Amino acid sequence: MDMQSSLLDRLFDAGLLIDTGVEGLYGRGGAFEDVIARFERMIDAYGGGDGAEAMRFPPGMNRAHFETSGYMKSFPQLAGTVHSFCGGDLDHMSLLQCMEVGSDWTQEQKATDIVLTPAACYPLYPTIARRGPLPAGGGLYDLQSYCFRHEPSNDPARQQLFRMREYVCMGTQEHVTNFRQSWMDRGLEMMDKVGLDVAIDVANDPFFGRAGRMLANNQRDQNLKFELLIPVTSAAKPTACMSFNYHQDAFGAKWGLTLEDGSVAHTACVGFGLERIALALFSRHGMEIAEWPQAVREALGYPG
Ligand code: AMP
Ligand code: ZN
Repeated sequence: MDMQSSLLDRLFDAGLLIDTGVEGLYGRGGAFEDVIARFERMIDAYGGGDGAEAMRFPPGMNRAHFETSGYMKSFPQLAGTVHSFCGGDLDHMSLLQCMEVGSDWTQEQKATDIVLTPAACYPLYPTIARRGPLPAGGGLYDLQSYCFRHEPSNDPARQQLFRMREYVCMGTQEHVTNFRQSWMDRGLEMMDKVGLDVAIDVANDPFFGRAGRMLANNQRDQNLKFELLIPVTSAAKPTACMSFNYHQDAFGAKWGLTLEDGSVAHTACVGFGLERIALALFSRHGMEIAEWPQAVREALGYPG
């Protein structure tokens, strides 16, 4: 058995994750959720003093905004759309017939106005753009959302529905790159506190196709994306548990985000992969939270 399915089996056996029969789609046990809640409190302790505006969007977003974002140009392989039955009685009868004989009953489903959110920050940009120019000093936002990515896998760290906690910063180039650097420093410190081995490295997004390879190279050459890596199923190939993205003025231009002086805003976002961080903790310290090192339990606020 490979390391990925063996970790997944141990998580199922311990009731930390719950099998649904679909790879990458899991229920979460109470203890698993509690780790995430405690880690989020730690994030609050680090970021809470920065004055970010908190917003929570559901895991589906406005399809028109998704189209404007250009996601289908870059990551068509990962997107998930919400389709529904929109027919009448006859259509209903033929749908039931399809199900009866085991043929594809989803063919006649129609696209709704909702697509699944691919990253927690996607619904934010059009929301902020609608408000008009950013206030003096820019904008800082605190987000958390379930996100969907169609990447089925038996690696428990590669889920199809998972949560991302994000801080997004909008302002001048200097402002947003300083924001990104400060979270790289904080991320290293936080992971050290909970006893996880970390490295930060330059990274790229999984842009689709041949043209995508160029975009990925460009992203790397310009240091636009860094990841904080932690061993989960493999020490040799650690997993990205945090991302630090600098979008230059690309999102600012796309969405019409402007600064007080009328110039186009630069943006950056920092994302915590909440399930991945919990999985890194269980993988490193074991399935029994009661047996985790005292310093780690303390950092997460477990009773002594
Ligand atoms: P990204 O937008 O790809 O940089 O994702 C932000 C963060 O979400 C990553 O650093 C991961 O921690 C987490 N993440 C991305 N994809 C997945 C996935 N398939 N399953 C679980 N966590 C993920
Ligand atoms: Zn983001």
